[in-house]
Amino acid sequence: MAKKPYEFDTRYSDVEQDLQDREHRIKTICFKVCSKCGETKLIFKFSLDKRNLDGRTNICKACRSREGLNYYYHNRVKMLIKNREYLKANKENRRIYSKRYRERHGEQLKENASKWYLENKEAIKKRNLKYYQDHKEACKQYRKLWIEKNKERIREYNREYNLKHKIASQGIA
Ligand SMILES: [Zn+2]
Repeated sequence: MAKKPYEFDTRYSDVEQDLQDREHRIKTICFKVCSKCGETKLIFKFSLDKRNLDGRTNICKACRSREGLNYYYHNRVKMLIKNREYLKANKENRRIYSKRYRERHGEQLKENASKWYLENKEAIKKRNLKYYQDHKEACKQYRKLWIEKNKERIREYNREYNLKHKIASQGIA
């Protein structure tokens, strides 16, 4: 029996409904509403997220990257403040720590420093001399200020120095 040409069959009266359902399915598969900006966007404007039923994040990529930048910025500032507060709070601890460190490794540190100095003596002298020549007036001023500031220390040092040498010369004599 030859096939009849296509005729509208009442059995398919719900074809309209089917089409609508299909359209809706396609719409919900292909589009999504961003829970942040509220815009309806193509599904690939949302990142993959296995934890979500539809496999995509609820917030669109644009919003997420904005959020990410915001997060980064705020956390950067927060971190900086935190760090500064930590350093402030631990100033005393750090002072004690480095003091202990110097006490424990003082000899080693001194040795390293003097070794470094001996190895670089000439270069250091040259550099200092050059600095002095380039900044003569400032150096003179600085020295004056230093002497003024350390008057007591210098006096004490000289007193001890004289005492030691007096004793030494008396010892020889
Ligand atoms: Zn969005």
